Amino acid sequence: MPELPEVEVICQGLRPLVVGKAIVSAGCSGQRLRTFQGRLTGWGLEGEKVHAVCRRSKHLVLILSGSMLGLHLGMSGQLIWRARNEPMPIHTHLWLCFSGHRLDYVDPRRFGDLKRLERPEGLSAGELAAGLMQGDWDAWLSPGPLGAEPLAQGFSGDLLFKASRGVQQAIKPWLMRGHVVVGVGNIYASEALHAAGIHPNRPAGRLSRARYARLALEVQSHLSAAIKAGGSTLRDFRSAHGEPGGYGLAHKVYDKEGKPCAACGRPVRRLIQAQRSSFYCPGCQH
Ligand SMILES: [Zn+2]
Repeated sequence: MPELPEVEVICQGLRPLVVGKAIVSAGCSGQRLRTFQGRLTGWGLEGEKVHAVCRRSKHLVLILSGSMLGLHLGMSGQLIWRARNEPMPIHTHLWLCFSGHRLDYVDPRRFGDLKRLERPEGLSAGELAAGLMQGDWDAWLSPGPLGAEPLAQGFSGDLLFKASRGVQQAIKPWLMRGHVVVGVGNIYASEALHAAGIHPNRPAGRLSRARYARLALEVQSHLSAAIKAGGSTLRDFRSAHGEPGGYGLAHKVYDKEGKPCAACGRPVRRLIQAQRSSFYCPGCQH
């Protein structure tokens, strides 16, 4: 499943390809996605120019001349940029044709989504993109609340500390719920907690302000490293989808049950929290 770093890398890869270009024609498979009804009728994408490509949580948003197009890759979605006359693979649910090229949205499992919103008047593409990161369009993008962007201003250890007061839930599943901070998937939660020395089972409400400050930094540094690694592997943007394992970054605990901890040598342990595996070191994490 594409995680936040993968979506950010797709966003960065797509930007130089489509910004400033006009959509010559658009089509869809007719199959339904999560909320998309399988029809582009009335979407008026033809002739729209792409003003910006941005991201909010794991949603990609194309800001067009007159509308905003939201894309979610779900579990298995891919965006593929190819020559316009290349054959279209099965499971292509949306295609946007540009002069000479085509952007295909391919999703075999159809857990992804497509949405359109009339572009609000009086706001530049830059202002819309900034508002998007601050959550202005969350109600359009997501049925549930979205937390802060981990790599944007406004995210800090203080935010986590304040939001966690009185919370009995263990830190790892609490962090992964996405209602306080988005994008901390299983791998990133396991690794950031290990780097910050916090046991995944610690009640969120019992961690100090100082420990949250450290955790917030580790969350940011792990996500940034994954984006950097992804960006460097994506020299020639053609297709991009989430590689489980976050671009093969060197994990210290994730999926390392029984292997020695890189910091202290004790064997890494696994526990199940909220139906997900958590990996941690009993020597380093308290
Ligand atoms: Zn250790």
